[in-house]
Amino acid sequence: MKSTVMKKSVILLLLFFQLQLVFAQKIELLIKGGHVVDPKNNIDGILDVAVNNGRILKIAKGIDAHNALHVVNARGMIVVPGLIDIHTHDFYGPDPERHFCNGSESILPDSFAFRTGITTVVDAGSSGWRDFPDFKKKIIDGSKTRVFAFLNIVGAGMRGRKFEQDTDDMDGKKTAMIAQQYHDYIVGIKLAHYKGAEWKPVEEAIKAGSLANIPLMIDFGDNKSPLSLEELLLKRMRSGDIFTHCFAELKGREYIVDTGSKKIKPYVWEARKKGILFDVGYGEISFSFSQAIPAIESGFYPNSISTDMHAARRNKNKDMPEIISEFLALGMNLREVIERVTWNPAREIHHKELGNLSKGAIADIAILHVRKNDIKFYDHAGYQLSGSKSFECEMTIKSGKIVYDRKSLL
Ligand SMILES: [Zn+2]
Repeated sequence: MKSTVMKKSVILLLLFFQLQLVFAQKIELLIKGGHVVDPKNNIDGILDVAVNNGRILKIAKGIDAHNALHVVNARGMIVVPGLIDIHTHDFYGPDPERHFCNGSESILPDSFAFRTGITTVVDAGSSGWRDFPDFKKKIIDGSKTRVFAFLNIVGAGMRGRKFEQDTDDMDGKKTAMIAQQYHDYIVGIKLAHYKGAEWKPVEEAIKAGSLANIPLMIDFGDNKSPLSLEELLLKRMRSGDIFTHCFAELKGREYIVDTGSKKIKPYVWEARKKGILFDVGYGEISFSFSQAIPAIESGFYPNSISTDMHAARRNKNKDMPEIISEFLALGMNLREVIERVTWNPAREIHHKELGNLSKGAIADIAILHVRKNDIKFYDHAGYQLSGSKSFECEMTIKSGKIVYDRKSLL
């Protein structure tokens, strides 16, 4: 009698382990034969990616497709972590007079993100502490795209240039309070478009960033700024803070490349050593080849590549695949480019659970096609650069679910 019970228990135990094995091997989505580039994990080769329960199950050569529910053939394509765009404007509303803050100069994230391989966007200061709860309710909560935000140091956010000059509405304490209250969404503090002669906006932004323990993103003036860029980078900004529009060459701005010698200014190298991060924030006019070419030639690569996507003159804004194609043409290699739209921005916003394909990581994946063709890129000043490759997004997967499939790869 005793031995029968024992036998039964052993059989049950074996069955249990077998079931566990079957369960463990189940693959919901298998991406076969793509060129996987995951800079965080030093992965750069032809591999398969298995996804289960919204997470990366494993990356290996020749994973058996028998246990896979869905198989995507990615042969000839590039498979990378879902792209992260840390400079966008997403607080769309119908009123043009509110500009970027619940206004028509912003753009709904779902209207551009997935189709360009982006799974995570960061709104770059469209709202300040006064409107952030409304932004969260109207846009963040309702979007399929993952949306984070840099909170503007101006309480009224980007309601228009006049509001952005009001130093009385720049309150580091109140800004930090909202940033702490919404720490799941607010990843940093933004300062932008200030044209005045006071350091108060920078000081209040640093106060907010320090109280909430998050980085700043600074767009340093949009007209003749009397404040010194050297002082901003070396004496004001902290390690881990982000200088956006780093390759802008606009009238009145101080540039990082000396236009005479075509060399990166020595204090900019020093700032990089100190830990200041340089972000592209491409936009309509905030990127110039006259800055980017000498910078890249001298080995000064941006830390992150972002679009500054917004609705105003939308057709002049380039999409992420177009922008990263330009960086290939500028001389960076595939891995270097992908790192700047995945793992680097993830680290900049302190979200290391994103931007990588580690085992168990959130399964955000972009499948890109690199088309080989002769292509000409232009910047806003009309400068022309020739390239031979351009990226296109074929498929985007967010948390293990296919959210964009251009040509029905599945
Ligand atoms: Zn912007």
